[in-house]
Amino acid sequence: HNELNQALQSNEVWYSFELFPPKTEKGREALRRKLNNLAELEPLIVDITWGAGGSSNTTSLRICKRAQQLHGLNTMLHLTCMSMTREELKQVLQSAKEKGIQNILALRGDVPQGGKKVDNGLNYAVDLVKFIKNIHKDYFGICVAGYPEGHGEAESFEKDLFYLKQKVDAGADMIITQMFFDPNIFLNYKKKCREIGIKCPIIPGIMPIMTYSGFMRMTKFTKVTVPKEITEGLEKVKDDKVKVVDFGVSTCVKMCQQLILDGVEGIHIYCLNQYKPVERIIKGLSLRSSRYRRSYPWRRSTIQKRRG
Ligand code: FAD
Repeated sequence: HNELNQALQSNEVWYSFELFPPKTEKGREALRRKLNNLAELEPLIVDITWGAGGSSNTTSLRICKRAQQLHGLNTMLHLTCMSMTREELKQVLQSAKEKGIQNILALRGDVPQGGKKVDNGLNYAVDLVKFIKNIHKDYFGICVAGYPEGHGEAESFEKDLFYLKQKVDAGADMIITQMFFDPNIFLNYKKKCREIGIKCPIIPGIMPIMTYSGFMRMTKFTKVTVPKEITEGLEKVKDDKVKVVDFGVSTCVKMCQQLILDGVEGIHIYCLNQYKPVERIIKGLSLRSSRYRRSYPWRRSTIQKRRG
């Protein structure tokens, strides 16, 4: 643990929390309470996902605004371009700017079921990065997504890396990855990125296992590799909700410890709008508050905390 302590102290490992906009008023109310608790853990940034279908998008903007104004947090808005017109994208960026949001996770997204691609729209995340840069220059900090096991539709792993580099060359400041459950997969990916000249921070996206069904659904959907120890460990406790969370927390802490030892700058947690397991992970890792850390490459909020 000495080595880990050293790594923690010298690297100032920060953490960010990803949340999604709830679909119901009850869910939104619950998130408001959770946000209160999550803010006390003082993450460097919270980011809110974007519904490629468009339904929850005003909620995403509102949650960002609330996180900034009530909790003084820095925020990042996810934005997908595939099923939005250029005009709509322009409006969202303007609205984000007016709300003081200074970071965007620029994504392609997927065409929602029953939806269609817009005419004369943007086809890939790289086009959105260029679009944002073109209109807003360096106002927004820009993140993009990376896939340690390759994106599902990619022609090949190498081609996917090539397109990732294009996103960075177009102006992305940082990469946040898809979830993975074997740290070696991430470390190998990072090495390959460096080999082709990607220099920006590459931040591991970590999804703690919180429920058995949720984990099965997510891993099936994303097709990520699950190591045998995790499958076997989880099968043993799957009928006990409390034990599943315990297992998820300890697995996550172990994985993050390896990543920290290897020198990651930050850890991005897919919180799934939960608080308790996230708190246990941050405390289990002995991570110190991220609030006053150096913020690069995130941009600080322009809106200051109003109360609290
Ligand atoms: P791109 O980088 O555009 O890549 C998409 C595919 O096209 C890849 O296979 C790539 O290899 C290929 N490609 C890229 N550029 C080119 C090019 N110029 N020519 C030909 N092929 C190319 N989805 C949501 O709907 N909302 C969210 O909030 C959201 N948040 C996410 C957060 C993270 C951290 C991650 C990892 C994913 C998230 N997603 C979200 C999912 C994401 O939208 C999907 O994975 C989507 O399929 C790909 O988006 P992308 O930005 O990675 O696409």
